[in-house]
Amino acid sequence: MGDRRSSANDRQGGKRGAAPAGVPPPHRSNKTQPAQAQVRPEVHAQAHPQAHLDKPPRPRPVRSICVYCGSSPGRSPAYAEAARSLGRLMAENDIGLVYGGGGLGLMGEVARAVLAGGGRVTGIIPEFLTEKEHMLREVTDLVVVADMHERKRLMFDRSDAFVALPGGIGTLEELVEQLTWAQLGRHSKPIVLFNAAGFWAPFVALLEHLRAEAFIRAGMEVRFSAADSAEAVLVAVHAGAPLARPAADGALTEKF
Ligand code: AMP
Repeated sequence: MGDRRSSANDRQGGKRGAAPAGVPPPHRSNKTQPAQAQVRPEVHAQAHPQAHLDKPPRPRPVRSICVYCGSSPGRSPAYAEAARSLGRLMAENDIGLVYGGGGLGLMGEVARAVLAGGGRVTGIIPEFLTEKEHMLREVTDLVVVADMHERKRLMFDRSDAFVALPGGIGTLEELVEQLTWAQLGRHSKPIVLFNAAGFWAPFVALLEHLRAEAFIRAGMEVRFSAADSAEAVLVAVHAGAPLARPAADGALTEKF
């Protein structure tokens, strides 16, 4: 398994973080400004497991986010715009992107936006998809893995939080897997739905249905947040995924 894994940086002599040809120089201007109102870079998502009992736990900062999203652009231009705005904001806040390594659809949009903003991108792609999903070679760190299982495991290991942009069944599968792992207490990393143009409302309604029909039982809540802008997504990530549920009017603001 490990010997099949290769990194573009290894092959390029370890040029970690180098901007790809054609990409503007890193844009870091926001880092020198006071913390943006909408993003709280020093608010953390998780209690540190080694924290001393006498002191409040020291949470771990969110340094990288795994973004799940479609390998297609989708029907509405709002989806690509959401992907780009998230990518830009992540770069501005020095939050690295971990994603599936493709260059198509929303996957390509978010990755290129992070790179254009001077941010870090880790692409994790199985060998059999490198052609099909137009593997993005310009990323900061490219990891070619043996299969889907290794890809998902590595995406989990290398990220502090999960954000789902609009996508297809691949996106859905990855998102639901993280929700189930969290439900089973396997991790407590924040999970945030980027509800661009209301895309995730039917999914949240389905979860409500599962709950109403007692297949999501009390004490086994599905923990996630939903947000409709890149700024709100980062706030939710940093807040450590407060529980979310749709409000009566359909707005995805309340706790689940
Ligand atoms: P989609 O949302 O279907 O466009 O897929 C988005 C990404 O999810 C692509 O990189 C797919 O390779 C990946 N994907 C597709 N099926 C799965 C799966 N069962 N588990 C994990 N990732 C998947």
